[in-house]
Amino acid sequence: MVQYTILVKGCVVLEITVTAKIKINPKPEEISLLQETLNAYKKACNFVSTVVFDTKNLSQASLHKVTYQALRSDYAMRSQMAQSVMKTVIARYRSTISNGHNWTRIKFQKPEYDLVWNRDYSLTAGLFSVNTLDGRIKVLFEIEAMEQYFDGTWFFGTAKLVNKYGKFFLHIPMTKEVKEAELADIRQVVGVDMGVNFLATTYDSQGKTTFFNGRDIKHKRAKYKRLRKQLQQKQTSSARQRLKKIGQRETRWMTNVNHQISKALVDRYGQNTLLVVENLTGIRAETEKVRVKDRYVTVSWAFYQLRQMLEYKAALHEAKVIAVDPKHTSQACPKCGHTEKANRNKKKHLFCCKTCGYTSNDDRIGAMNLQQKGIEYIVAAATGA
Ligand SMILES: [Zn+2]
Repeated sequence: MVQYTILVKGCVVLEITVTAKIKINPKPEEISLLQETLNAYKKACNFVSTVVFDTKNLSQASLHKVTYQALRSDYAMRSQMAQSVMKTVIARYRSTISNGHNWTRIKFQKPEYDLVWNRDYSLTAGLFSVNTLDGRIKVLFEIEAMEQYFDGTWFFGTAKLVNKYGKFFLHIPMTKEVKEAELADIRQVVGVDMGVNFLATTYDSQGKTTFFNGRDIKHKRAKYKRLRKQLQQKQTSSARQRLKKIGQRETRWMTNVNHQISKALVDRYGQNTLLVVENLTGIRAETEKVRVKDRYVTVSWAFYQLRQMLEYKAALHEAKVIAVDPKHTSQACPKCGHTEKANRNKKKHLFCCKTCGYTSNDDRIGAMNLQQKGIEYIVAAATGA
């Protein structure tokens, strides 16, 4: 999920990349062929990796001279697969080097296979067409998850075919260019307070508050937490395995919740909206001291993920997300400005201003203050302050 900015003729274009993950459903005879292909591809990558490691050469042209024949004859790679193998290995070395790691031989351990769109794979009429050791095969895939990408505005990137838990998945980077929502076009500002009781509480330009309920989620997280604790105490290998499985299940579930909530937010407010969230990066250590149990403790990655999802979904709808300094968002009175810790009763989830007596739900106060910060942001941008 990457997002970066390119300038085209003076107007800002955002390039959004989303990784679509879909399950493919091969028949039994296709399963063994795919497994063989993935294993052969992995072995071929390890062979090329040895050559790269020995020669320290990352040019595809010279690698081609040294490895192509062997890839074809000893590793049964078809011509295009041999090219992909070299690309995969070169890319992995490049990213390792750019991450500042030392020059070591990279081992390819997972059965994975990189596929170039319209050369090694395509998706048409409900079928995933893929190059294997034995030529092209066409496999059923779960089309529902992909439907949104077939409107002609998305580019299909180099996909990865993955064999995990006995199943096959296709990870496809989908890219689309959108025009960035400009501040001058913003028609409403919405403060979005992220919490656990209410996953999100919003306050909009019409003064309307909406609670996106998270009570069930709080309970479910607590259940997962108890379960994890029990298993951690057991310290047997089967407990560790279950722990890992449960962790993966929790991650999938939370990811799904985040998808739903970010979609609900963007669907509700739509085009030309400025959504204002708290910037929680870099304040994690402080957060855990300052914030109470029910807010930002269990949450770091889940909130970060929610924010990322909100950002790209907003961009797809010509809306915009900004993250502002969370300082005082839960303590400041939105009516008179009086800021004091005691304004907020955390246990009762109630805010009551010590100066003017303004009283409201504390998540709503957070959203109101964020909305105010969003307005200040626009004013500052407009006046160049
Ligand atoms: Zn007040």
